[in-house]
Amino acid sequence: MTMKDDYKHKGLRRQLGEGLRQKGITNEAVLKAIDAVPRHLFMDAAFLEFAYKDTAFPIGAGQTISQPYTVAFQTDLLDLKRGDKVLEIGTGSGYQTAVLMEMGVKVFTIERQKLLYDKTKNLLPQLGYAPKFFYGDGYKGLPNYAPFDKVLVTAGAPFVPEALKEQLKVGGIMVIPVGSGDVQMMTVLQKTSESGFETTELKQFRFVPLLEDKQW
Ligand code: SAH
Repeated sequence: MTMKDDYKHKGLRRQLGEGLRQKGITNEAVLKAIDAVPRHLFMDAAFLEFAYKDTAFPIGAGQTISQPYTVAFQTDLLDLKRGDKVLEIGTGSGYQTAVLMEMGVKVFTIERQKLLYDKTKNLLPQLGYAPKFFYGDGYKGLPNYAPFDKVLVTAGAPFVPEALKEQLKVGGIMVIPVGSGDVQMMTVLQKTSESGFETTELKQFRFVPLLEDKQW
């Protein structure tokens, strides 16, 4: 793979950013992060023309790279502060991971598909991103690395996994698309005490499912 990011890609990215603004993304730090990540390098070279369209796209293994609007929307909701410890469920292509890293946070990311885990663990460091990668089940989170300031789930969850609620710091925020059908409700949970959560539902999105019962 050639790791090229030239004026053409940068121009396309600027247009993508303008499109996101028009769709209502106003968080300048998030728009700057989107502008900094070479999304075309997360996709097959044959699909360059799709790299900067605001759509999701297949990345193999039946999975997708999230739509830039969705990535921007979720990243904004996390209310990230530099140095935050963030748990991400569903590494996939690593595009969302890269956007998080551009926000100056520490990322712990989990993927259950070995192929994607291997591919992305190899790719991201080549692009200068060094999150901590884990091959495992997002429903369980990472008890050994908890607590986290923020938790981001990038697959549609039928319910909010209890382990992820536990692993969130008091005062922390979880962003998770909830629903077991075709569409999920983007949901924000703010942890107000050891057992208390304030829940806000925003709007519907479409994600690939957060899968359970993997045969290990
Ligand atoms: N954030 C990704 C989008 C990934 S799509 C990106 O920007 O490209 C959702 C990902 O969640 C897929 O890669 C899928 O394999 C993964 N996934 C599904 N169920 C999971 C689980 N239980 N634990 C961890 N990852 C899971």
